[in-house]
Amino acid sequence: MGGDTQTRQTVSTFPKYSAGPVGQQIHSIYKGRLGIFQDGGQYASQNLQAKLYEGKASGEDYIKLSVYSPPDLTRPTFKEATSHEFKKTHVGEWFGPSWSTHWIKIHLKVPSDLQKKEQLELHWDGHNEGLIWTEDGVPLQGLTGNGERIEWILPKEFRDGSFHTFYIEMACNGMFGNAPGGDSIQPPDPNKYFQLTQAEIVAVNMEARQLYIDFWIIGDAAREFPENSWESHEALQLCNKIMDTYVAADGSQDSIIECRKLATKYIGDVNSSRVYDTDKEHLIYAIGNCHIDTCWLWPWDETKRKIARSFANQCDLLDRYPEHRFVASQAQQYKWLEQLYPSLYDRVKAKIKEGRFQTVGGSWVEHDTNLPSGESLVRQFLYGQRLFQSRFGERCRTFWLPDTFGYSTQLPQLCRLAGMTRFFTQKISWNNINNFPHTTFRWVSLDGSQVLCHMAPANTYTASAHFGDVNRSLSQNKSMDQDATGILAFGKGDGGGGPTFEMLEKLRRCRGMSDTVGLLPRVKMGDSVEDFFDRLEKKAEEGTKFVTWYGELYFELHRGTYTSQANNKWNNRKTEIMLHDIEYLATLATIKDSSYKYPKKDIDDIWENTLLCQFHDCLPGSCIEMCYDDSDKLYEYGFKTGKKLLKDALSVLDFSMHDPEKDSMIAINTLPWPRAEIVELPAGMQTRDSKYAIVHGDSGAIDVKALSAKDSKYSSSKASIKEIRQDVFQLSNNHYKVEVEGGSITSLIDLEENREIIAKGGKANQLVIFDDKPLYWQAWDVEVYHLETRKELPSSQSRIVEKGPHKVSLMTETKISEDSWVKTTISLAASIEDQPSYVEMANEVEWHETMRFLKVEFPVDITNTEASYETQYGIIRRPTHYNTSWDMAKFEVCCHKWADLSENGYGVSIMNDSKYGFATSGNMMRLSLLRAPKAPDAHADMGRHHIRYAILPHAGPLDSRTVRTARNFNHPMNIYSHSSPSTTTSSSLLSAITLQGSPALVLDAIKRGEDDEDVSRGELPKRKGRSIILRIYESLGGKARGTIKTSLKVKKVWKTNVLEDDEESLEIVDGGVGIELRAFEVATFRLQL
Ligand SMILES: [Zn+2]
Repeated sequence: MGGDTQTRQTVSTFPKYSAGPVGQQIHSIYKGRLGIFQDGGQYASQNLQAKLYEGKASGEDYIKLSVYSPPDLTRPTFKEATSHEFKKTHVGEWFGPSWSTHWIKIHLKVPSDLQKKEQLELHWDGHNEGLIWTEDGVPLQGLTGNGERIEWILPKEFRDGSFHTFYIEMACNGMFGNAPGGDSIQPPDPNKYFQLTQAEIVAVNMEARQLYIDFWIIGDAAREFPENSWESHEALQLCNKIMDTYVAADGSQDSIIECRKLATKYIGDVNSSRVYDTDKEHLIYAIGNCHIDTCWLWPWDETKRKIARSFANQCDLLDRYPEHRFVASQAQQYKWLEQLYPSLYDRVKAKIKEGRFQTVGGSWVEHDTNLPSGESLVRQFLYGQRLFQSRFGERCRTFWLPDTFGYSTQLPQLCRLAGMTRFFTQKISWNNINNFPHTTFRWVSLDGSQVLCHMAPANTYTASAHFGDVNRSLSQNKSMDQDATGILAFGKGDGGGGPTFEMLEKLRRCRGMSDTVGLLPRVKMGDSVEDFFDRLEKKAEEGTKFVTWYGELYFELHRGTYTSQANNKWNNRKTEIMLHDIEYLATLATIKDSSYKYPKKDIDDIWENTLLCQFHDCLPGSCIEMCYDDSDKLYEYGFKTGKKLLKDALSVLDFSMHDPEKDSMIAINTLPWPRAEIVELPAGMQTRDSKYAIVHGDSGAIDVKALSAKDSKYSSSKASIKEIRQDVFQLSNNHYKVEVEGGSITSLIDLEENREIIAKGGKANQLVIFDDKPLYWQAWDVEVYHLETRKELPSSQSRIVEKGPHKVSLMTETKISEDSWVKTTISLAASIEDQPSYVEMANEVEWHETMRFLKVEFPVDITNTEASYETQYGIIRRPTHYNTSWDMAKFEVCCHKWADLSENGYGVSIMNDSKYGFATSGNMMRLSLLRAPKAPDAHADMGRHHIRYAILPHAGPLDSRTVRTARNFNHPMNIYSHSSPSTTTSSSLLSAITLQGSPALVLDAIKRGEDDEDVSRGELPKRKGRSIILRIYESLGGKARGTIKTSLKVKKVWKTNVLEDDEESLEIVDGGVGIELRAFEVATFRLQL
């Protein structure tokens, strides 16, 4: 065989012989190694931490300190404080006690060897909060303390070798108040002292600082990306390579620069906001926020300073990070800023104008939504939106409420009526029983109105912008079938603060990583909350079917907040009721007498205070004691001012509260329906044989007929009482026969229906007590297992305290403990024909318990798997059983003035005058009365309480009888004297506006138009002429028709939104306007006079 065979051989560089063994990396060890490079502890002097600063200067030669400590825990203004003499002080000094303020004057000189360094910072750690002011009183930046946000970048002009002066306003509290030890919800220690441990000039090695953050994020990728992803392996290899490079050069500055170059392979160039310039699709919208609880573990006055500290920080960061966007809600906080920090307010306002500091929320504060009345929720938006509009030229479009303890079912409707179509929250992620199934969804109100709701998928509104937060913003999104985007709400919060520079730096790296290696969802900065929702709304418009959630967003935690801090809740309810009357009477007074000026400022003040006290820690009862001292003062001011406003308006209307002459007694029914009641005469109006009067008439002024014991007209209607056996009493009127044994109602017979209402063997009005130790959040939570600790409280002998014939009463004392007792008065008034009659209980309670829960029970002979509860502008039905975990989670729920259990043909309503916690389990109805948590207020609810509640049985279904009677029960008729009883001008004026038609319609509020030229305070453009605003809602859940009747000269009638924007013109026919409302619709009408 012939031919040459040429063999072509490729030369391999792969060595023939092994140079030695190479092992597979043990990942746990190599991951563990990463901490050696940047953590504190034993390697800190050798690792990157030791390279963070190029030089430091401290001591008297460079930093001279002096202090003025205002007396008595006062918080003087800059001007006031700096007018005082300052005394020398020094690093190492202790400052206190808790809540005190210390103004520190600082003379600072940069040493010559530091003057050329890249970045000079003051590092200041007093272990408490602080605010830096310029020498001439401009607030610059907040300080947090305890190693957090302790740096302030020194101005360039400080590098001139001479001394410069500025101030630090030191507040003796931490970010979370003054709790002793590490448990921040424990009551504050009044005697805490804070040591100033650090005051030095620091030259920062910016490359080392940046490498520190590079390494942190790449290290997170190594630790947190899935083990089987190449991205995780790559990150781990890179981190180890960075460490080796650093070690090889003994941590030289060149090696640090080299390490940063290595890092870019994984995260790209992250040295500027240009990292965000790629136009790749992004899923995560990072938006900075600082949740400043308007009061919580600190009082209002500290909040005012927290706002300045937080907002100043964010203005600074907005200047330094072009991509940064910051949102802040709560109109009240902007108002405080405007009043107290005008220069900072202007700075914020300029940033708002640029669109980088963004207003959201639309409400006065981030309020509770379980407890405030419907009208209060409306006013949260009315006052909130008006402030945003008047100060910043725009209303908010998103209701922002990340941290409230459950969300009322009527919020979507009210948001829509207040110009907001979007809702952002997240608290439901704290549910400790069921996992809420949606992230982005349409939330639907009782009336069918909807908002687009998004819950931050990272399950926090105070994210630290960690790698994991970004990752979870996608992985925990439960609505990816429709949309995978999520809001990452990052920034220090609850105590305020907001984003830090580290967070912004970390996010640049996260973004860079997504673009360079992928896997991490791409985060975007620079868009607003509105941009996020605009896109969702567009998707919905284009056919994306976002899923729906109907009804309340019930929060499966913090159920104790329906009951904690009873006094505060009592004040809220009474103020809401008082404000109704003030606005109604003042409106009519402006019509009667044009020289009377609608007291808009006073009304605004009382409303704004009330709205403030509805803040989501205040009204729910989860604040420290100081906050309740604060809110008590606001309520007290409100009651005092309100009394005067009522008096003034009444006097214009010819009624007076003074020197009542019996023959001119008159009752004013400010509610929009007829009332017929036996009322107790005010002390000065009682005579020997008439203590009671009958008041029977329509809305407006009603004659008062004093009842004598022998009153003939009502002689057929009497209440009587007798002891039928030892300690067994029978109370009766034409409606009921009630048997009371040992203080409990063992029988309640509806005589007309011949029906027993109490379940067999049951005891109604039985006081019971429970051990109340939740897993952690004392004032907030009552946990399901408390039900197993139920104990009946035995009562002492009862005694008759009132014998009739108009009213009978029986008093029973119940001992709770050596220190606590209840005196219960059960009363039954003579019934009035065609009027609902109820059994009333008035409790006087002396309460000094520890972690116990007092409730009162009503076992009723009614069968239904659902009970009904009054909520704002409607009724909410909840299960009476524990079939599923969702049903069981509602073992304690929120109600307003009544709860009801009805079956076909009959039902029982339990009314109350100041309570919000309720439970219906099977046929057991239970009203929650008092709790005794010891944190965060060690004295919560201790002392005397007065509580009224009543049993209102009704033949037939739940209907307007319950709605109206419960409103009446909360709104006792007041008796006045009339200066000229013969004239009827005022009397007819009181009924000048009425609502006729369906009894389901409730005329809930009457007020003057906000911008009427004679009412307006000028914050928004005035509207010509005078107008009257009516708020009407459908209360029972069905379409309802009615007619607004008025004897006033009305030129035009408009249906408006709650912000009083005209929307639809209505026709006036014969002095009436026909209206039709959807089920549970809230409608506002403007009558232009
Ligand atoms: Zn909060």
